Amino acid sequence: MGIRPLILVVEDERAIADFLSAQLSTSHYRVLTACTGAQAISMATSHCPDLVLLDLGLPDRDGLEILADIRTWSALPIVIVSARNQEEDIVQALDHGADDYITKPFSNSVLMARVRTALRKRFANGEGPARTKQSFGDGRLSIDYGKRLITTHEGQLHLTPVEYKMLTLLAQNAGQVLTYSLLRKELWGPYAGDNRALRVNMANLRRKIEENSADPQFLLTEIGVGYRMIESDDEEFD
Ligand code: CA
Repeated sequence: MGIRPLILVVEDERAIADFLSAQLSTSHYRVLTACTGAQAISMATSHCPDLVLLDLGLPDRDGLEILADIRTWSALPIVIVSARNQEEDIVQALDHGADDYITKPFSNSVLMARVRTALRKRFANGEGPARTKQSFGDGRLSIDYGKRLITTHEGQLHLTPVEYKMLTLLAQNAGQVLTYSLLRKELWGPYAGDNRALRVNMANLRRKIEENSADPQFLLTEIGVGYRMIESDDEEFD
């Protein structure tokens, strides 16, 4: 990409805002900061950032309101960065349109991975060729979408239709958490019940894909929130 991506950091705590700005600038992103909700909305509309990192506890408005506000006019990636670490806060933000969620305190590597993932999605959206193949863990797991083939070091896998859909949903959003409710809705429609079927299918999928399903390397659990597939290897396009 030619122009370096522009990231809007919305954070009222000066020390955290400075830390985020410094880390992002070091990684060659352009950075803007806002310390109130009102400023965040005004900067998001006037500067069209490629990504927003959004704190929830702001002095004038709650971050969830800012999220809802931006979502009425834009699908730009928004990653919540918050000290609120309760499962229901995280699920609520994700289900209201946040792309991802980082809890404070966070490590720089987690921050950068989430930023990369959110931006990749931003620049992949709509434009460009459709993904035809994807691999994970230095090729230890690969997906061929055209042929509907899943391959591991043990060879070709046989997945049920639900397992295949679950894996490809997570793979196409690799690096990003998908909530239980989103996955249920995608797999079984709006009237899907509890998470039991989801858990059963995930257990089966892990048995087939993971070398040790008790210690998964590809399909990670975010307890109380959902599942996250690891970041993919460099992608191949047709
Ligand atoms: Ca705050």
